Amino acid sequence: MKKQAILVSSCLLGVCCRYDGASKPNGDVIKLREKYVLIPICPEVDGGLPTPRTPSERVGDRVLMRDGTDVTVNYQNGAEMALERARSFGCTAAVLKARSPSCGKGVIYDGSFSGRLTDRDGVAAELLRSNGIEVYTEEEIHILLEK
Ligand code: SF4
Repeated sequence: MKKQAILVSSCLLGVCCRYDGASKPNGDVIKLREKYVLIPICPEVDGGLPTPRTPSERVGDRVLMRDGTDVTVNYQNGAEMALERARSFGCTAAVLKARSPSCGKGVIYDGSFSGRLTDRDGVAAELLRSNGIEVYTEEEIHILLEK
């Protein structure tokens, strides 16, 4: 049977695309390839930001770097590219890095750069969810596997 394709945050697959130049490889996420075709995305890099980069957070309807640089357009462009990729590969689900201002689902940092969290999606997760793509964090893979 043909495997279903799903989007996955590249940093969870071991790509060094995080703001600090590191990755966050997750063995359970990588193992998903046994059941799914994994389509990597990194909305921040896809939106034109370099690695490493100054960390950013959602602040109201904008996304700002810690130094105040407005990177909203980069985040929006990266989110659009993620949606485009989901559509072109027929993905109906995504496994995205928890708490990221792009990839986070449900809970992200609150815009104060103090480590505090708030109930909100990252920019890409929000766009994907509003277009019917089911988003799971790496902490929720069991839900995807039980489906
Ligand atoms: Fe990982 Fe998403 Fe951040 Fe890229 S934008 S480094 S994929 S959490």
